[in-house]
Amino acid sequence: MTDCLFCKIANKEIPSNIVYENEKILVFKDINPEAPVHILIIPKVHMDSALELDESNSNIISHIFAIIPKLAKELGVDEKGFRVVTNIGEYGGQTVKHLHFHMLGGRNLSWPPG
Ligand code: AMP
Ligand code: ZN
Repeated sequence: MTDCLFCKIANKEIPSNIVYENEKILVFKDINPEAPVHILIIPKVHMDSALELDESNSNIISHIFAIIPKLAKELGVDEKGFRVVTNIGEYGGQTVKHLHFHMLGGRNLSWPPG
């Protein structure tokens, strides 16, 4: 999608602090971190949010979650724990309309969220 911030990041039209990349996904540091570890995991193909998932495209989710243990170990959050969350739509607090998972760690995260 031409006018999408995270598509531009995935296409390297906008720089980001890349943590991991393969042909399907990009992982980069959140520009406004809410925790000592705050990274974003995105599929390179555009979808607005998790609301667009179905049987035909949801294999990207298992691909993303399969990489999370490796990321957690590399970032040193595997032992203490961390959180993976995707915000959906206005009430979900989604500000960038390209599916992404936040991975937050390095401090004790409160629950429930605000
Ligand atoms: P959400 O509010 O769930 O849609 O999350 C969007 C996230 O993208 C926020 O945590 C922002 O800080 C982050 N963000 C926005 N622009 C950039 C950027 N250029 N590089 C990295 N992260 C960004
Ligand atoms: Zn996009």
